[in-house]
Amino acid sequence: TTVQSELIAAIRNIPDYPKPGVMFRDITTLLGNPRAFRRAIDELVHPYAGTKIDKIAGIEARGFILGGAIAHQLSSGFVPIRKKGKLPHDTVRIAYSLEYGVDEMEMHKDALKPGEKVILVDDLIATGGTAEAAVKLLKQMGADIVAACFVIDLPELGGRKKLEALGVNVRTLIEFE
Ligand code: IMP
Repeated sequence: TTVQSELIAAIRNIPDYPKPGVMFRDITTLLGNPRAFRRAIDELVHPYAGTKIDKIAGIEARGFILGGAIAHQLSSGFVPIRKKGKLPHDTVRIAYSLEYGVDEMEMHKDALKPGEKVILVDDLIATGGTAEAAVKLLKQMGADIVAACFVIDLPELGGRKKLEALGVNVRTLIEFE
């Protein structure tokens, strides 16, 4: 569609970043383009317009930018899911594996009440490892996960299927190989 081609055109492709052979999809150019930024947010939220979403949970750091805009649009609260050690109050924490080694992410224990309706947001889903860890944290807090939303899907890496296998609805706008 035209929306998709507009979004694809607004994304910058950076070969060999962060390492040789990887094509990095850079959304800073989309965020800096007023029309494309609005389009991306409108497209992500439209299925949920008029439904009550209590919280948007954004994954550090690009999920904060998109998630803040989505929270405003849906009149929801915003909850940051951060790398360990950044949040000042009591947290729940989960370890997850990266390509090399492991990392941990956390959220505040009082950020969500059981049963609250939550949408998870990040810029891109690749293997789904990051989003899967975030889903597990949210479920541990008793969240009702309405959907996980991403601007970009790299379907060959299987992330969408991984989340769907956990029973999570996945919404993405564009795909790259
Ligand atoms: P996954 O855990 O393999 O699904 O990787 C997704 C995470 O890595 C997300 O937090 C993305 O922001 C980040 N990421 C991986 N590849 C890219 C990319 O090409 N562009 C932007 N972010 C990326």
